[in-house]
Amino acid sequence: MKIETLISADEIQGRIAELGKEIERDYGTKGEIVVVGVLKGAFMFMSDLVRHLNMPLRCDFLRVSSYDHDKNTGQVRMEFDLTQPIVGSDVLLVEDIVDSGNTLRYLLEHLHAKKPKSLKVASLLYKDTGKARKLVDYVCFNVPNKYVIGYGLDSEGLYRSLPFVGVFSK
Ligand code: 5GP
Repeated sequence: MKIETLISADEIQGRIAELGKEIERDYGTKGEIVVVGVLKGAFMFMSDLVRHLNMPLRCDFLRVSSYDHDKNTGQVRMEFDLTQPIVGSDVLLVEDIVDSGNTLRYLLEHLHAKKPKSLKVASLLYKDTGKARKLVDYVCFNVPNKYVIGYGLDSEGLYRSLPFVGVFSK
């Protein structure tokens, strides 16, 4: 199957640099923040984003699964949780893509229970279905309602290493 580029590597890098500036403006560059990546999909976005954040920060990760054979089952399962407490911390949750918002709602509830001082969300992609935009503070790109791959996002475990975001084409 062919892959068509939806968002090029250059566009991604340019937008992440902009987003980094926006986040710096909002948080300032003095206070410490905790950046929490949602594995596996957000690993590439998070690693590029943190290199644009000029502030003291800690990185942590958690992992959930919400898709069963590329279909949204609506069920979210915590596979592993943060390694450090976030009580009283400014937390930035980093997602690869927000679609129905089920995963994000689950994660926000889970993280709010840990009593952070603040909790914001940055997502590389937002699928323009209009249901969960209010939950996301920073979005790099809106994408159409198609299955996207690349730049961390997979199809059955493959394609995460592509430097661009693409869709399958015939
Ligand atoms: P939601 O719970 O918002 O419906 O879906 C969020 C999760 O589903 C994402 O973190 C991602 O793992 C997966 N997902 C949703 N849409 C896509 C897509 O188009 N491509 C890929 N590879 N994963 C997706």
